[in-house]
Amino acid sequence: MNGGKRHQPLTETWDCHVHFPYAGVIEGPSLPRNLDDFIGAMRKAGISRAVGNVWEVVNAPDAAALKSGNRTTLSAAEESSGFIIPQVMVNPHFPAASVDELKWALDNGIRMAGEICGYIIGHKYKGKGIRKILEAAGELGIAVDIHLYGFDQAAEFARSFPQTTFVFAHFGGLAHGDITRIAEIADLPNAMVDVSGTAVFRTGVPEHAIQILGAERVLFGTDYFIDDPITTRIRTELACPDRRSLELVMRENLKRLTAL
Ligand SMILES: [Zn+2]
Repeated sequence: MNGGKRHQPLTETWDCHVHFPYAGVIEGPSLPRNLDDFIGAMRKAGISRAVGNVWEVVNAPDAAALKSGNRTTLSAAEESSGFIIPQVMVNPHFPAASVDELKWALDNGIRMAGEICGYIIGHKYKGKGIRKILEAAGELGIAVDIHLYGFDQAAEFARSFPQTTFVFAHFGGLAHGDITRIAEIADLPNAMVDVSGTAVFRTGVPEHAIQILGAERVLFGTDYFIDDPITTRIRTELACPDRRSLELVMRENLKRLTAL
């Protein structure tokens, strides 16, 4: 614990997990209507850069939509004057197209894939498709952010694909799980977690993750526009026990993964 002291926030904070609107695809009176709104809200929350993708690619209905969504993400990133760091989406329903997309991503300087969101796309990560994607990502040096169904799956993936760096979204899909099980991935150095989602607000959760995995394996992420970025940022900063862990969690780990 840090004795109740709050460390001075960083001048640059990087978010590893966002989804942004483009061409008005997000419906809802309280949600950002376009990329400018989105970036404005993120900056107001003290966030300087964010890894993410355009919302419609998360649940692309076919390989063509996956491909065009990834290109939209890249164009939006170019328009954002460096705010958005593009992320390539892959989808286990379309493994061959996904591997092609990983290669395309690397050619375009993109070093992170995901967030693969099984519950949204209706996939339980069984079968060969997902394994083909995870293996290719490891060979290409692209880290994968994936929303799982629990720590059994996290440990199995990290053990089976030691070359692949995993960022397990929402502390390993913890929303309905148990933080004490995070120890099951502690001895797997390629397993990291992001703090996005609602578990970060539960008492002691981010502190426990930092203690068990080390600050170099916990990444700040907000999942904005789904969740509010200000509350997640402040909660995560307060969980960091010292200045070095604050730098790692809130920026440096992501800099390392994106090679920026
Ligand atoms: Zn997400």
